[in-house]
Parts: sequence; structure tokens; C-alpha cells
Amino acid sequence: MLVLVINSGSSSLKYQVRDVEAGSVLAEGLIEKIGMGNGGGGDGEIEGPRDHAEALELVDAAIHEALGGQVFHAVGHRVVHGGERFAEPVLVDSEITRAIERLNPLAPLHNPAAVLGLRAIAQKWPELPQVAVFDTAFHRTLPEHAWRYAVPDELYTNHGIRRYGFHGTSHDYVSRQAAALLDVPVEEFDAVIAHLGNGASVTAIRAGQSIDTSMGFTPLEGLVMGTRSGDLDPSILVFLARAGWSPEDLDTMLNRQSGLKGLAGNNDMRSVVEAAEAGDAKAAMALAVASYRLAKYIGGYHVAVGGAKALVFTAGIGENSHQFRALVADRLGALGVELDSVLNLERSRDPRVISTPRSAIPVLVVPTDEERAIAEATAAVVNSGR
Ligand code: ADP
Repeated sequence: MLVLVINSGSSSLKYQVRDVEAGSVLAEGLIEKIGMGNGGGGDGEIEGPRDHAEALELVDAAIHEALGGQVFHAVGHRVVHGGERFAEPVLVDSEITRAIERLNPLAPLHNPAAVLGLRAIAQKWPELPQVAVFDTAFHRTLPEHAWRYAVPDELYTNHGIRRYGFHGTSHDYVSRQAAALLDVPVEEFDAVIAHLGNGASVTAIRAGQSIDTSMGFTPLEGLVMGTRSGDLDPSILVFLARAGWSPEDLDTMLNRQSGLKGLAGNNDMRSVVEAAEAGDAKAAMALAVASYRLAKYIGGYHVAVGGAKALVFTAGIGENSHQFRALVADRLGALGVELDSVLNLERSRDPRVISTPRSAIPVLVVPTDEERAIAEATAAVVNSGR
């Protein structure tokens, strides 16, 4: 089955056409500056459509050329927030689209864009099945003691304030790949998965299910990220609000100016590692803060899952930064974790073990592939007629 995978942002639209059975990518691209006037093109990128419908025309033309007469059979959408309702991928109709739209307040930057994408495709290709794959769905198995915040109950009942978790498609895919690599049935797999990209989260997997995850009500909680603070004392915000900071000021500070950027002046892990290696003390401290935070989560989640059978690194930093992996592993000696320094340095696109045979917990690098996971989930839903 050929599946068009759509990741629609407020001003961008990322797409791939995947052959699900062959596991291959037949076409891919990125349309940017949607609704921002003419971006002027350049580098072969198509730019400047008026809205998501016009962006879709550009996608259609590009795909048509790449597929040379083949047609795709379904569309799979990445949807950031599925709230409490969506625990798995669903076939989309107008009621589902409205349900996703009702979740807009929980993901004000992301869900409205997904809704625009769903509606534009329903209009252009009314016969085509569309499937929504939610970033939160994999974490619907969190027990209540893990998803509750210790705040007055009415914040949950009236405002939906609880922990949801994100990156679920990636954590799900990576944990299945890791279980397969270690030859453990996924229903028996207990592990800690660290998805470390620009956004970063770590998930506790017990019997193949997510039982805790570091992102919460929004993707801000938890780890130190490229530009996001992760955990902090919420009273800091009260303190700053009293000093005159507006909600927008706080939002910008926490989501765009913090994390590696706030500590080291650069949000890109590669640059921070290079700076630290060249003797920059701030960059070195940023790495120390980020690796220490992650190590604490790994220790906590090792306990939460009752003893992890694997520690898995994935996404841009997890897959590529041997330096960051080593910094984290160095803090895990108490768990008996021991990296093989040669295996850790190796570069590969394959899932692999990077710990020594003596390591009490095997450490793995497993490349994530969210588009592939979305394409497979889409095909499964369409085939089952759900
Ligand atoms: P996103 O969350 O946007 O999908 P990615 O998963 O692509 O992000 O991860 C981006 C991060 O991965 C950046 O911090 C980048 O510096 C880091 N990264 C990518 N390649 C390397 C590398 N070779 N060494 C170290 N870090 C890397």
C-alpha cells in the first residue's frame, strides 16, 4: 500500500509517500512559508502558497511527477494532541476532525494545522481514507498516579490539566525495534527509551507499554532540550509574573530561549559539543546539566519499570552524539551500565548495541522513523476497516 504521510505545521507541510510493504520512500518534501506571501523559492524548494489547500496542490504536483502514474491509497497524518479520547490511530471523518479541533486549546500551535491539513485533503480527495496518528496515544496507558499533577482536582476536571506525554509514535516504534533486536517479545519488554532531538523526552516501558514519560501537559516538561527548559520550580513563573512578565514573555523564555540555548547560547547539540571540546565552560556546563537531568530520569524510570532490560537512545542527538551518550552513561555507573567505547563511536543507520557484555543493562541505539511508523499504522487501520 502507498501511503501519503503528512506532518502539517502552522506554516509548513512535510510529506512523504511510503510503500508500506517495501518499507521504501517514493517521494518526500517540505513546503514552507504557507500563508506568508511569496518566499521567493531557491534551492529547489517550493515556497509561498497562500494556504494549506494551495500547498497541497504543490504536493500533488511533486508527487505526481515522482510516482510516475502510481497512485497512493491512503493519507496518514501526524496529529500532536489526541487528548484523553484517542488511544490509537483512527480513520478520520468529519466528527473525528471536529474532535481534534476541540483539542486545539491543548495544542494551540499544532492541532489547528493538522485540522487544516485534514480538511484540505478531504476536500481535494474525498474518496481517500485518512488516518490520524496521535503523538499522545502511546501514553494513554500511563497509570493515574503517573499522569496526575498534585494540584486541586478541578484543574483536571475543568481544564484537562494532567500529563499527556508526546513523541509517542517514536517511543512506540523504537521500543518495538529494540525488543526485536534483543529478541524479547514486546509484551515482555521493560525498557527506558530516550528520544533526544530538538525536543526530547524519555519514556518508561513496562511490558511493551508506556507507564511514564517526561513530557507532561505540554512538550515543555522534563529534559533539557534545544530551546526548552524542561523541569523547573513553577514558583519561578509566579515570581517573574509579579515582576511584570506577561504570559507571552514567559512562554517565549521557557520554549524558545532556554535549554541548551539559554545555557550555552546555542540550541544545536553538535555546536555545543564542539564548543565544550574547545574549552567553552558554558557549553560544558550545558552538557552537564542536560546529561545529569537525563540520568536522573533514567534512574527513576529504571525503578518505575521494575528493572529495565534495555536503555535505548534515539533521534538526532541519541542516534548521532556519541559524546552525549557517553556523558549520560558515565552518570549511570550505579546501575551497572558500561558503554563499549568503540561500539559507541561507530556510525550506522542500523539498530545496534553499544554496551559491553558486562553491562548490567544493554544500551542500544535505535534510529527512529516516525513517517514509517505513521505509514504502517495508517495501512493497518485502512486494512482493518476501523
Ligand atoms: P527534531 O526534534 O527537530 O526532529 P532531530 O531529531 O533532527 O530533531 O535532532 C536534532 C538534534 O540532533 C540537534 O541538536 C542536532 O545538533 C543533533 N544532531 C544531529 N546530528 C548530530 C551529530 N552528528 N552529532 C551530534 N548531534 C547531532
